[in-house]
Amino acid sequence: MLWRTHIRIVNEILRKLGFSLSSPEANRLRDGVIIPDRWRDFPHHHGKSEPIKEHVVKARMLFLDGNLPEACFHLGVALHYIQDSYTSLSTRSRHHTRWEEQVDQAHFTDNLKELVNRTFPDYDDRREDYMRIAGWLGEENEGKISTLELATASGPGLSFWGPREWGKPYIDVNFALKASYVISKSVFSEKHCPKLDEELQIALKEYEEKAGGVEIRFANEIMDFVKRRDDSEKRKGEPGTFRVVRNLFLTFLNMIHNFQVKRKLEEYREQKHLKEVLKEYRDRIDRVVMPHRFWYVYCIPEIQLGVADRELLSLEEVSESLQIEKTTVRDLIARDRIFCYRIQDEEFISKSELAQHLSK
Ligand SMILES: [Zn+2]
Repeated sequence: MLWRTHIRIVNEILRKLGFSLSSPEANRLRDGVIIPDRWRDFPHHHGKSEPIKEHVVKARMLFLDGNLPEACFHLGVALHYIQDSYTSLSTRSRHHTRWEEQVDQAHFTDNLKELVNRTFPDYDDRREDYMRIAGWLGEENEGKISTLELATASGPGLSFWGPREWGKPYIDVNFALKASYVISKSVFSEKHCPKLDEELQIALKEYEEKAGGVEIRFANEIMDFVKRRDDSEKRKGEPGTFRVVRNLFLTFLNMIHNFQVKRKLEEYREQKHLKEVLKEYRDRIDRVVMPHRFWYVYCIPEIQLGVADRELLSLEEVSESLQIEKTTVRDLIARDRIFCYRIQDEEFISKSELAQHLSK
């Protein structure tokens, strides 16, 4: 495609997007849209999917960063390859130069479908091919995946040998214009994606609930061990035959329980159980965010693992973080309203049990 055609197309896009033709953005877009021909990294009509993707994403990142002129430059580079891919007559054809002249002189139109109908009244398969692409370019396009798909789709009717496969110069230029416009509009679209933000919030809620469940289960396990340990301790005092043997066995059981309780408490304090959930949450977030990376501005919400959400609390923590007097708690323990879990030199209570009694 001729330089002046590339420039004509991007000037039309600048106009449609509301940029002034003499703005720095316009200058950089025009710089970008002709530079691949200076680089001479031919062929431009096909096989440029990777550079197209790179430059479209780079343009979007610079736009998110607020650097509009440089975003325009990279968009321009991508548009060059995209526009070239819509030239349906091969550069190897001896008619190529004349074709490009005609492309340059062709009028712009917004109505691709009408243009296709008018151009191919008697060629059903040509018409259907172009209609399908016209329909695709006419759909609402947003987001990284669909924009990159559109940007790297091979141009219609590209052919090296068969003259019957040609489109028409005015078809080429109008398809190139429409594709360039749709892609440019997407690159300069909203920086935030409400659907993505919502998905992140849904994941946060789901994993906060999961963390809550895991916390209660883990704390319950510890409390269960403590109760079993205390139980075996109590049974040591009971009279009966084989008392000595039984006590020996209970002492042994007690040791095991004590060991388990201590180990569990260590794990609990290191928040091992919650770190697992956090890891799963981060994997999930990665999967949610991956398709949109470098395309939207988003904030990954953090799961808070504060003391206030813990199920097993020491008496100090109860008074500090829940603002409940130690004496109130001690009183509840003394009246057997809540259970006191003793682990080594410390005393713990269950937050749920406490909440139950306080709400009565
Ligand atoms: Zn080129």
